[in-house]
Amino acid sequence: MEPLSLYLHIPFCTVKCPYCDFNTYSRIEGLIPAYLDAFQREIRRWGSEVGRGYQVQTIFFGGGTPSLLTEEQVCSLLETCHKSFLVAEDTEISLEANPETVTEDYMRGLLQAGVNRLSMGAQSFDEAELKWLGRTHGSETIIMAYEAARAAGFENISLDLIYGLTGQSASTWERTLRRAIQLRPDHLSLYALTIEEGTPFGRQAARGQLKQPDPDAAADMYLLAAEALEAEGYTHYEISNWEFGGHACRHNTTYWEDRQYLGFGPGAHSYFGGYRFSDIRSPRKYIERLDHSTGADRDAEQGTPGLSNEESIRRLSPIDMMEHIDRDMEMSETMVLGLRLVKGVSKERFKTRFGAAIEEIYGDVIEELKSLALLEEAEGHVRLTPRGWLLSNEAFVRFL
Ligand code: SF4
Repeated sequence: MEPLSLYLHIPFCTVKCPYCDFNTYSRIEGLIPAYLDAFQREIRRWGSEVGRGYQVQTIFFGGGTPSLLTEEQVCSLLETCHKSFLVAEDTEISLEANPETVTEDYMRGLLQAGVNRLSMGAQSFDEAELKWLGRTHGSETIIMAYEAARAAGFENISLDLIYGLTGQSASTWERTLRRAIQLRPDHLSLYALTIEEGTPFGRQAARGQLKQPDPDAAADMYLLAAEALEAEGYTHYEISNWEFGGHACRHNTTYWEDRQYLGFGPGAHSYFGGYRFSDIRSPRKYIERLDHSTGADRDAEQGTPGLSNEESIRRLSPIDMMEHIDRDMEMSETMVLGLRLVKGVSKERFKTRFGAAIEEIYGDVIEELKSLALLEEAEGHVRLTPRGWLLSNEAFVRFL
């Protein structure tokens, strides 16, 4: 049975951070009950259509701030997944949590509901940086939330940190990193701040009121982190991710290995049946569209022809964007996504998947990137060099 991953998008946040360009909204929490009804309808439809043909191996509650849901709401969503799909017993079930939204009791409730991995948005342990980022928690709150999660029984906790902030010094970044390492999380995701158009930071930068982060300083912070984490026994397994004790994120690895997943909720992306597609972005329209299309529920319940085309997908979800992925595109994506993994792209898996050797398709590109010291071959894989991690976009564009 083919493996499948599910992504559950929770588009609610108490405040919108000025750097964030995710499809999330503040001050619409009143929509949560109607949203969950619509959301469960979308999950059930897909379950009726394809749920018995695949085995779900990872479920990821992302956002937004999924920890704004109650334990009961999380439990009810997971029950819907279990009723709709064949969910493997050892499924990794992750939930993103903001430190200020959780208590030990709440996290015990999440564990009982089946969540077994917590991804906490710490971002920084420096009070001034947290404030600048518009976060509503302080460093003490992160530590309390982390300790409460351990006390509740979580054995798989990840922390997210952001570096390369405008004007950030190497020493505050190092302090943040050291504080995070002291907690001994099982996993760390480190992201460089990017100033995105359409965000408050983007508008300030356009008006000349905010300086862009310095890419050289960010590169130095990245190298400092890579060195410090390696010295502490963490394994670097993806450009931005480190794990300890075998806790690589199985859900995100699905993306990097270019395998199939279904995303539910406004703006959520899917890769399934040869298509990449995403749901409409507006939570209100998403709810309306799922409220007013009972015909699709009936079709899904009665069974519809196999999901081989665009129409079938459009019947199940309120689609915003859809793109057919042909073989050439699939090969490019397999390279670009797979090269994010430190182990790289397996030559054997590439050949099994596409019936052609990797060198046959990308021999010239690989040689060129090797000559630039961005790429190397080792242990049956093609992979980025440490220099390539810093200049990964230079490498990726050549595969597209
Ligand atoms: S809490 Fe996370 S998802 Fe919500 S606005 Fe801030 S960065 Fe975006």
